[in-house]
Amino acid sequence: MKVPFYLHHLGDAEKHAIVEALGDPILSTGARVKDFEERFARFVGAPHALGVTHCTAALHACLLAAGIGEGDEVIVPPLTFIATANAVLHCGGKPVFADVDRDTGNLSPDAVAAAITPRTRAIIPVHLYGTPAEHDAFAALARQHNLTLIYDAAHCVEGQYRGRRIGELGDFTCYSFYATKNLTCGEGGAITLKDEATLERLRRLTLHGMTSGGASRFQGAYKHWDMVELGWKYNLPNVLAALLIPQLERLPGLLEQREAICRQYEEAFAGLGYLRTLKVPAHVRSARHLFTVVFDPAVRDEAIRQLNAAGIGITVNYRPVHLTQYYREALGYREGMYPHAEAIGGGTVSLPLYPRMSPEQVQTVISAVRALRL
Ligand SMILES: *Cc1c(COP(=O)(O)O)cnc(C)c1O
Repeated sequence: MKVPFYLHHLGDAEKHAIVEALGDPILSTGARVKDFEERFARFVGAPHALGVTHCTAALHACLLAAGIGEGDEVIVPPLTFIATANAVLHCGGKPVFADVDRDTGNLSPDAVAAAITPRTRAIIPVHLYGTPAEHDAFAALARQHNLTLIYDAAHCVEGQYRGRRIGELGDFTCYSFYATKNLTCGEGGAITLKDEATLERLRRLTLHGMTSGGASRFQGAYKHWDMVELGWKYNLPNVLAALLIPQLERLPGLLEQREAICRQYEEAFAGLGYLRTLKVPAHVRSARHLFTVVFDPAVRDEAIRQLNAAGIGITVNYRPVHLTQYYREALGYREGMYPHAEAIGGGTVSLPLYPRMSPEQVQTVISAVRALRL
């Protein structure tokens, strides 16, 4: 590929941090995780953060902490990574989809309002592609119907909604540090939240339901521990936290670089009749995680073929979750139920977007998109 879909931006600071972490007595959860949690909470504007193994774990643990179980419905968008909906199934709950907004791709508050039933217990809006979801409307619905508001911020560490940072919104916010995310350690995640008692509950839920973690069990004088509820093994280790810490201060600069590429794309594609770009509303600051263009679903795969032939790495975010074989068979979802998610999911292509792209590579992508014959 002339322009790979993604290249990470980790370098000397991260190499140095890993070597330092290997000198510590504790490789698993310890002081570096605590340091990261404090810095990360400050960065996203939340009182507390908890490091976990991945965003899927973050979503699962938050749903458990919110008491979601058998018979409970949780509203999620169909245009997202499968993890958002799967986490509801992991708790025994039922993921109920609601359609997305045609212009932004984000979960539609009106569609959510129409999907609420007496069994609805929570909503998980996704800040899709880095664009913050319509928080004020979701907060009002959550208040009115007594629902837990959990954000999937896997795409959105740096975003802002009406001047508020992403960790200031909702009851819980879940983040991913997966290999291609804006802040990454290969595999990792975090939860931010306001309530300290719930933080301690989440810490336990992500450590088998044990009363003390590994580091405190093996350091100093031995103390007996107990298991007080059934939890999972979702704790973030020090070596991965070490990789994350030096990236935090670079995030604003990296966002500026992605923002500049997005503006070039938007300008260059504005007049093209065979695609549209999604909108970033004026009252939000997008974290610009993915740049997606939307074709007519009838020509999308041909567009992919021509872009790949021109040496452009692309991906698709996302084919709608409700149309996967499992969701159709296990939950009875069908085509036609969520028209906007299906139109975007069926027509979308994500283009390369990362700070290491050279100006020439950005031009190569622009030329290839403008040269499409569909
Ligand atoms: C990446 C992603 C996840 C899952 O993150 P993991 O850290 O891989 O578990 C969840 N939701 C969205 C929207 C994602 O893009």
